[in-house]
Parts: sequence; structure tokens; C-alpha cells
Amino acid sequence: MSSKQFAIIGMGRFGSSVARTLYELDFEVMGIDENEERINENIQYVTHAVVADTTDERALKELGIRNFDVVVVAIGVDIQASILTVLTLKELGVKKIVAKAQNERHGQVLYKVGADRVVFPERDMGVRVAHNLISANVLDFIELAEDYSVAEVMVSPRMVGKSLRQLNLRALYEVNVIAIKSGDKFNITPNPDDLIQVGDVLVVIGNNKDLQTFEEQA
Ligand code: ADP
Repeated sequence: MSSKQFAIIGMGRFGSSVARTLYELDFEVMGIDENEERINENIQYVTHAVVADTTDERALKELGIRNFDVVVVAIGVDIQASILTVLTLKELGVKKIVAKAQNERHGQVLYKVGADRVVFPERDMGVRVAHNLISANVLDFIELAEDYSVAEVMVSPRMVGKSLRQLNLRALYEVNVIAIKSGDKFNITPNPDDLIQVGDVLVVIGNNKDLQTFEEQA
């Protein structure tokens, strides 16, 4: 079993999905929720499952929360509980706090009270789905920063048989191909003279505007 230990607070849809994934990857995971039913639903998918109100500092101390490498606060709807939990975790000296935000304002407050990383699952999923809707060739889209993203784009018929050098995407669209996916194989050091094959997927990094132009025209 891997040595990294995670605590996930809030076993809603997001929290339980994070917890189950980490557990399946062989990490030690403690799932915490104030709702006993939620804990019972997830008991077989975590190493330990505990019923506790995490806005209560004493309860967090008793769980030894400081000893976890990462604590994920996945409380969504109850914004007050989410903020209070992050604040308390910070005060208790938790090394890394990742928190889920409902909206931008909530996210700003979470950073202010001590979150090391804030995630916006609904917003990010919305962006990914929207890019997929704009162009059926876009398989996935992940924002790296406000203006920069990575997109997985299916090659168009007119790219097939050409090399990256011939496609000249850097000059034409100001995007960079960081990998080429051919079936199950990932080529993360694409050669400028490798020929694009039918069904290949390009993993492209760039400014959002440039990526959009590339998605629409290429
Ligand atoms: P999602 O949208 O991911 O389903 P929810 O906000 O519905 O998120 O779920 C968050 C979970 O957090 C719920 O199961 C809720 O019981 C739990 N929760 C809310 N407040 C606290 C708290 N103070 N302590 C522990 N768990 C909490």
C-alpha cells in the first residue's frame, strides 16, 4: 500500500468520487461526513469511514487530521461549513488543503482562509463539455491557467499523411503539439517528421483563443 494518506471531508458526489478513486489506486483514504447515511454508502470504498462534524475543532483533532498528507474539503452546498472547516484545518497545521468551491467568491474566501488549492468541478466540467460541443473533434479540454489550456483534438482527414513539420501548427495557430495518441500508444516526444495517421489524437497546448481557432479550422 502506498504511503500517502488522504482525508476526504464530505462524501457527496464529488468527495466520494475522489475518495473511491484514490482508494482504488491503493492510497490510504479516510472518508468523513456528518451524515451517517453517506458514510454507510461509502464504507467499502475507503480505508476508514468516520461520522464527524468537521466544523468542530475537537472532532478534527481526535481524528488526527494533522497527520494526513492531503485533506480534501468536498463540502459544497453548506458554504459556511466548508469555510469553517478549511479555517480550522489550517489552524491545526494541516500540510495541504484542497477545497471544492461552489463559485468564484466562495473560492476566493477558501484561499483567504488557507486552502492551498481550490477546485471548481462544475465550472471546469462545463468548460470541457462546451468545448466538446463546439467541435466534435475536441475529445477533452483542460484549463491550466485562466488563458491557457490543453486540448485533445482528433486529427482531420486533411492532416493524415502529413508530418508536424508540414502542418506547421506553431506558426499557423501558435499552438504546440505535446503528444500524439495513436490507439493506446502515447508518443510524448513527437518527431517533427512523424506522419499523422488516421484516428490519431493530438494533445495540444496553447492560449484559449488560439486553441479555439485551431479547433474550428484545423
Ligand atoms: P456534492 O455536490 O459533491 O454532492 P454536497 O454539498 O451535496 O456535495 O455534499 C457534501 C457532503 O458534505 C454531504 O454529504 C454533507 O453531509 C457533508 N457535510 C456538510 N457539512 C459537513 C460538516 N460540517 N462536517 C462533515 N460533513 C459535512
